[in-house]
Amino acid sequence: MTDIYHGFELLLFKKFSCHPEVWYGLRKQIQDKLEKSSDDIIDINDIVQKVPQELWYLSVCLHRQPKRLIQLCKHDSKQQHRLPIDNLLTTYVELYKITEFHLDSIFKFREDRTLPKELFRCYNMRILSLKYNCLEAIPPDIGRLRKLQYLALTNNRLQIHSLPYTLAFCSKLKTILLDNNQLDALPGFLLEMSGIETVHRHGNHNYFKSTFMWYHTDVDFRIIPTSGTNVLPSTSPDMLQFLAAKTIIGTRKDFFNDPDVAGILKDYIADIYSLFNVCSHCNGVTRTYLKGYKVITFKNPYLGNTCVPFMHWTCSLECAKALEVPARQEQIKAAYMLDSMYEQYIVDCQRQFGSRHQPGLTCPCVSSEDNTNSCTIL
Ligand SMILES: [Zn+2]
Repeated sequence: MTDIYHGFELLLFKKFSCHPEVWYGLRKQIQDKLEKSSDDIIDINDIVQKVPQELWYLSVCLHRQPKRLIQLCKHDSKQQHRLPIDNLLTTYVELYKITEFHLDSIFKFREDRTLPKELFRCYNMRILSLKYNCLEAIPPDIGRLRKLQYLALTNNRLQIHSLPYTLAFCSKLKTILLDNNQLDALPGFLLEMSGIETVHRHGNHNYFKSTFMWYHTDVDFRIIPTSGTNVLPSTSPDMLQFLAAKTIIGTRKDFFNDPDVAGILKDYIADIYSLFNVCSHCNGVTRTYLKGYKVITFKNPYLGNTCVPFMHWTCSLECAKALEVPARQEQIKAAYMLDSMYEQYIVDCQRQFGSRHQPGLTCPCVSSEDNTNSCTIL
């Protein structure tokens, strides 16, 4: 059976990260018991009984995964130096080679819904489910998960800018569930992800209803000027590290997987990634407080659907037109192709039907024994 990392475990490690004393206290209690035990088997019932009510996830963890916590304590005691609190989660996950993370319904709307950065350093993660969490953004660190195959984000509060381009670095991703969010269209970078096989998207602003209104409009209506955010720019000159990060973001290359980019710079880029918009045409990078253009394009067919809208961002009207005009021509060409395929299908059906049913003959779909119900082709 596959080992799964559950929501209550995430809440516990989030607590350890913010309040290391909780981990130190638990570790001491378990290690004291291990020292007194001759066969490494310990009874943790009295530890469970002392857990305060607000740490319910610790109780659940001790009940459902006692071996995992005991194993983590044993592993920690073998280390020459104690495990840094920042590495606890990844060590725990690696000890059990966990690849599935079922983290549905762990956050409520008014709670701190920050996903711990360590979660995105579980490099063997293949399945990540974050349904029903009121999430408003996915951290750019998601791009570190290069083995991720399945990502469920159903029932959150995600908008188009909540999904960072770094998601495109997850080249093994096959399935992404985006149902019941606040998207107006799918993010344009999904079109670059050739491995994607399934995208669920129903329940987003009445399934992109407003966006589909642009389907029959001309080019100007599919290019929407944006005013930028109201954050005022800093008057001090940009730091060299900031400029380096900006340049790397503009390349759209997987910097997480690039050995030439220092680890500390990767962390810094991930931290400031959401400050920028990257032009989908020229890769120009601008701060989000600056004006730009949203561009709607339609892809038909897309993953078995006749037509799906995508949203892109461009730095200028020229870039917007350079992106939109060819996309629209391709869409019209694809629509004609679909129309002609459909017409050919009708012709083929009529031909087959006509060859089977000569005028005046009884329809073979009705039994010859039941002549009262037989139909005559006129
Ligand atoms: Zn541009």
